[in-house]
Amino acid sequence: MAIEFRCTGCEVLLRVGDHTGGLPAKCPECGTLQTIPQYGSELDIAPKGPPDPSDPDFQPRKKSNSKNNDDTAGVMSLLLGLTALMTSCCLPLAFPVSLIGLVLGIRAFKSENRVPAIIGIVLSFLGLLVTLGMTVLMLFSF
Ligand SMILES: [Zn+2]
Repeated sequence: MAIEFRCTGCEVLLRVGDHTGGLPAKCPECGTLQTIPQYGSELDIAPKGPPDPSDPDFQPRKKSNSKNNDDTAGVMSLLLGLTALMTSCCLPLAFPVSLIGLVLGIRAFKSENRVPAIIGIVLSFLGLLVTLGMTVLMLFSF
């Protein structure tokens, strides 16, 4: 079998042995240097039309993208809740972190993947409680 492809310079149909796929070739007609396509790729034989709208790869992935964003928000909420818990001794940091974690978790709760959001809400809420508890302790210790 042979590889057939069109020259990128003059569009002439070229035929080479199938063992030459991926190698550089010089067009005998116009002298353009190009890479021979791999055998069976049919890359340059079929004319390239506009993208087919029925092609699944061409469909916009708005839904899956928004889902990914929600997942990220849920995981972020989880991480912020953890951070808030771990930094609860440092109040100026733990208070805003736990609040942001709580807001992100509530926002992500509306998405399909609720597990990280729920954990994030619980952790952020705990972080907020611990932070408030630490604030009260500090106020009484003075
Ligand atoms: Zn050529």
